[in-house]
Amino acid sequence: MSQVYLRPHHALCIQFFEGKGYSEEFVSHMRAVIGALQSSDPAVMLCDGCDVLCEKCPHNLGGVCETDGKASAIDERTLALLGLRFGDTLRWHELSARAYDRIIGCSKLSGVCRGCQWLMICNR
Ligand code: SF4
Repeated sequence: MSQVYLRPHHALCIQFFEGKGYSEEFVSHMRAVIGALQSSDPAVMLCDGCDVLCEKCPHNLGGVCETDGKASAIDERTLALLGLRFGDTLRWHELSARAYDRIIGCSKLSGVCRGCQWLMICNR
C-alpha cells in the first residue's frame, strides 16, 4: 500500500472497527483498508474531504460526504487535539498512536465525536 489519504477522524473510527458500517461493501472495504494499514504501515496524508474509506460509502456523493457538516466538524476537533493539520503526512502507526494517546486514552472521544451515530460502539 503506497501513500493513502485519510480524514483525520477516521484514525479514531479504525481503532474501534468491529465489522459494522454503512453497507456490506463499505464494511468489507474498511476491513481490507485496515488490514493494509496494519501490514504495510503506509504514509498517511490527512485530507479535508473524502478519503480511502469513503470510496465505498453510500454517503459519498461524487466525492462529497452527504453528512459533511458533521464529519468535517469531527475532523476539526480531531486535528486540534492531535496537533496536526490537513496535509500533514505521517506513518499509520504514528497517527494511530497519537490518536490513542491524545484522544482515546485520555477519555476525550465523546467530546470529539459528539453527534456521531457510531459513538456508542466506541464507548463500550
Ligand atoms: S459518512 Fe462521510 S465521512 Fe463517513 S465514510 Fe461515509 S462519506 Fe466518508
